[in-house]
Amino acid sequence: MTQVYNFSSGPAMLPAEVLKLAQQELCDWHGLGTSVMEISHRGKEFIQVAEEAEKDFRDLLNIPSNYKVLFCHGGGRGQFAGIPLNLLGDKTTADYVDAGYWAASAVKEAKKYCTPNVIDAKVTIDGLRAVKPMREWQLSDNAAYLHYCPNETIDGIAIHETPDFGDAIVTADFSSSILSHPLDVSRYGAIYAGAQKNIGPAGLTLVIVRDDLLGKAQTACPSIIDYTVLSENDSMFNTPPTFAWYLAGLVFKWLKKQGGVAAMDKINQQKAELLYSIIDHSDFYRNDVAPANRSRMNIPFQLADSALDKLFLEESFAAGLHALKGHRVVGGMRASIYNAMPLEGVKALTDFMQDFERRRG
Ligand code: PMP
Repeated sequence: MTQVYNFSSGPAMLPAEVLKLAQQELCDWHGLGTSVMEISHRGKEFIQVAEEAEKDFRDLLNIPSNYKVLFCHGGGRGQFAGIPLNLLGDKTTADYVDAGYWAASAVKEAKKYCTPNVIDAKVTIDGLRAVKPMREWQLSDNAAYLHYCPNETIDGIAIHETPDFGDAIVTADFSSSILSHPLDVSRYGAIYAGAQKNIGPAGLTLVIVRDDLLGKAQTACPSIIDYTVLSENDSMFNTPPTFAWYLAGLVFKWLKKQGGVAAMDKINQQKAELLYSIIDHSDFYRNDVAPANRSRMNIPFQLADSALDKLFLEESFAAGLHALKGHRVVGGMRASIYNAMPLEGVKALTDFMQDFERRRG
């Protein structure tokens, strides 16, 4: 069988080593005679899985002890509601930076609960899409918090700066970049991420929240996304997505073995530089994001002649390079190269791209 590299934006590729281990222990987990999917979340066996996963996640991101880690349902979109419902308190507005599709989607949901102050940070520099630097973000005086999305999965735009807004409570949607680089958690009030890109399978969402922000959920906040309820119940107020939690735990152990997020950061930079350099050194391919705001996780690119898109996708798929079709709002191609994508996968893609250009250019 051809070696397959999966460039899907999410659910995305998982480390082969992790899948093999999960396969080995699927039917008989740790000699118990059943799978980990079939045991109670309240039994000592699963509690150990859960606690270990949390500990490893904390180690990986160096999460300070005054932050809670919550294992939730509901995905990134669930947290578009979770953030205002938990953090508005008695305020009626919050600052929302709009730099792409997902930030804008968060605004849409927030409008159900407050009147967001939308900071349009999208700019064009020399014809390239970019984001205003943080120092130009005009925060309002009465906002409960600031929300932004550091990695726009669809637009291929990233905000690489670390926030420094004094006492303002910063919240961020790290769905497509968590664990891909070191992160100063202490700069944030709350961070969230759907699991299906850099953490594990879909169905699990991680929230990191500073403990002094608990206790102010709206009365109407559903208990299953109330951070205080989740925290008081060790994320087991209701039945958590146990298999996803277990698998995330295996991914965390794999990450530690690779050298943690600092090591991933290095490889991720190498992978992204390789792909961008092939795009930039050709008239056949194009990426229209300003270098300072280029994502290292999601790299959209266009063919100069879009009539060749279909052929590119057919031939790349046949070569084992899957899921390269761009999102419908951007078009063209997109390569998502999360932690589980090895450098060889990106090398296989760039070799294919150069070969395709030679044959069709
Ligand atoms: N935020 C970002 C940055 C995303 O990439 C996605 C999904 N691709 C979402 C939010 C929505 O996540 P979910 O489908 O888990 O609700």
